[in-house]
Amino acid sequence: MPTSAQSAPLDPQTLALRRKQYAQIAGLLEDLYGYPTWRQHLPPVDELVSTILSQSTTDSNRDMAFGALKARFPSWEATRDAPVEEVIETIRSAGLANQKGPRIQEALHNLTRERGTLSLDFLADLDVEAGKAWLTRLNGIGPKTAAIILLFAFNKPAFPVDTHIHRVTGRLGLIGPKTSAARAHVELEAIIPPKDYYASHLNIIRHGREVCQARRPRCEDCPLTAYCDYFQRVRSGRR
Ligand code: SF4
Repeated sequence: MPTSAQSAPLDPQTLALRRKQYAQIAGLLEDLYGYPTWRQHLPPVDELVSTILSQSTTDSNRDMAFGALKARFPSWEATRDAPVEEVIETIRSAGLANQKGPRIQEALHNLTRERGTLSLDFLADLDVEAGKAWLTRLNGIGPKTAAIILLFAFNKPAFPVDTHIHRVTGRLGLIGPKTSAARAHVELEAIIPPKDYYASHLNIIRHGREVCQARRPRCEDCPLTAYCDYFQRVRSGRR
């Protein structure tokens, strides 16, 4: 759960400025990438496992490890109850397998203990804040994983902040300097209209992968320069 400092609202003036800036940026990203419409990605427990596998790796390595888990174990119950070494060996392609294997089993055990069954379907009947509160009570589930499950599996208005979104929105100035990823969830959910969470999530990630890359942002190819704090600082020599 976020602390009270993490969940404090933005002051009204900052909120208004950032909403205006976001609207301009979102329009330009939509011109570039279109407006993705929601489609269900994975069932909720699959999404949970996939998100844990996705930490610090590429989508293709994550998908390879996820496919290997599904091929080796007939159910999530079997994954939960398998010797941890078998799970670790199966997910090697995702990297950090020694951490992710126990983390997956812990999340599956916690879910079973809390609900008596390995299902997250009950989240469909909770509002988004109650869903986040429930998920983030479980060890190993932070605000990003909770938001991913709620948005991608249930089409609920939650905005996940991954490493690309954290970096790109930080450079643009849509979140404050030195804002943590946990706090960025609160700030960006206040700025972005909930109906746009899905499209914005996908478009900002795509921009982070294709243009605003971590090591060397390709500002010369970016249509957002007029709205970007980082670009303005570099241009004025204030880096
Ligand atoms: S102008 Fe540069 S730093 Fe700013 S969003 Fe575009 S690529 Fe990223």
